[in-house]
Amino acid sequence: MDCLFCKIAAGEIPSTKVFENDDVYAFLDIAPQAPFHAVIIPKKHIKCADEITPENSGIIAKIFEAIAIISKEQGLENGYRIVNNCGEDGGQTVGHLHFHMLGRRALAWPPG
Ligand code: 5GP
Ligand code: ZN
Repeated sequence: MDCLFCKIAAGEIPSTKVFENDDVYAFLDIAPQAPFHAVIIPKKHIKCADEITPENSGIIAKIFEAIAIISKEQGLENGYRIVNNCGEDGGQTVGHLHFHMLGRRALAWPPG
């Protein structure tokens, strides 16, 4: 399968790592939308949030455990935003489940 984020998780495409364990990989976004902008992905390919099932939903807990670690390591005690874009109308451009983590500036709400 020709998947950009599978290749990044496998180290076949270089990225700036911010966190890694057996199940999760996190790296800096190439086009940051905030002073801190990381992308957190499962190493195993899942297309989008729509493909979460009782069999694979454990990875969501692992991703959020990683986010809590990253926030402390990055000193984001003032807050941050977690974003998941799903599908075309959701603005998803890479078809491998991922969560954006945006911080180090105040973010407007609601988003556009
Ligand atoms: P989406 O729009 O699918 O929610 O988010 C995809 C994100 O991946 C975008 O924020 C985009 O900047 C980032 N991205 C796309 N290609 C690369 C890449 O090759 N390296 C890195 N580090 N980020 C990428
Ligand atoms: Zn993939």
